[in-house]
Amino acid sequence: MKEGYVEKSGETTEQDMELINRYTRRELTAEEVYTFSVVLCDNEIDRDYERFTTEALEKLAVLFVGRTGIFDHQNSSANQAARIYSCRVERPEGKTTSFGEPYARLTAKAYLPRGGVQEDLILQLDAGIKKEVSVGCSVGSVRCSVCGEEVRRGTCRHQKGKVYGGRVCHHILEEPSDAYEWSFVAVPAQREAGVIKHYLPESGKACTLTESQVCKLRGHLEDLEKRAGMGDEYRDNLRREVVRLSGILQPGIALPVMERVVQRMTLDELKAFHKAYSQKMEETFPVSPQLAGRDRSRRAEGDRSFQI
Ligand SMILES: [Zn+2]
Repeated sequence: MKEGYVEKSGETTEQDMELINRYTRRELTAEEVYTFSVVLCDNEIDRDYERFTTEALEKLAVLFVGRTGIFDHQNSSANQAARIYSCRVERPEGKTTSFGEPYARLTAKAYLPRGGVQEDLILQLDAGIKKEVSVGCSVGSVRCSVCGEEVRRGTCRHQKGKVYGGRVCHHILEEPSDAYEWSFVAVPAQREAGVIKHYLPESGKACTLTESQVCKLRGHLEDLEKRAGMGDEYRDNLRREVVRLSGILQPGIALPVMERVVQRMTLDELKAFHKAYSQKMEETFPVSPQLAGRDRSRRAEGDRSFQI
């Protein structure tokens, strides 16, 4: 599957214009549009160890017609978009996939109107700067290549990317149910560039996320993981501290007993114990010399309050 990529800009034929004019408000001429081919995906195993079947590609060919491609996520406006006006599965002769099936790829033809800001984009396409594309779709079925089980059922015990009986386990994507927006990826060879697949959850209801939403979500998850890690560390420190203070203040309770007790305490309980023990420590043991001054003034204040 790899990344999708812009193939070449070709001649715009009368047949192309007929298809393009289905999407335009007024009839455009061949001089008014720029057309190019883009390979959206293929039936090869991709970097996620997943592949579409050729039948899935055929269905996607229908679903992608009419879909718009966005050029720039930061700066996208309605007229900065190309539209797919035809889409078909190509089968280059003599080429086979890594698992020995005839190779097939989904190739789309797209257009954008000439003139204005579009000329800049056309130049970038011609120069090969805007080359990688990322496409999104949702699929209804994901099967394991080893046992053939529907992966989302949870009965398959194979791991994709691992080798079983000399063959790499991968997931087979079938029954595409929707095709989404596609976009040009500014930086080529980006790890995320390429086909974004959406799977229908068990509820059967598909949900779509834009690339920026996915990025935001990932950032949020990383942040949560980090915070959870920090929280665990904080709780562990608090447990150790409560056990230590208990050992000093309540020597009658054996340390292993207290260690078991703190394991069952909630964070609030740990905090309450820590606070109470810390106060008790301050009362029981003399404060360090450098705090003596402050302590004395505090005591003085306390004394004054008694004078009322
Ligand atoms: Zn399996």
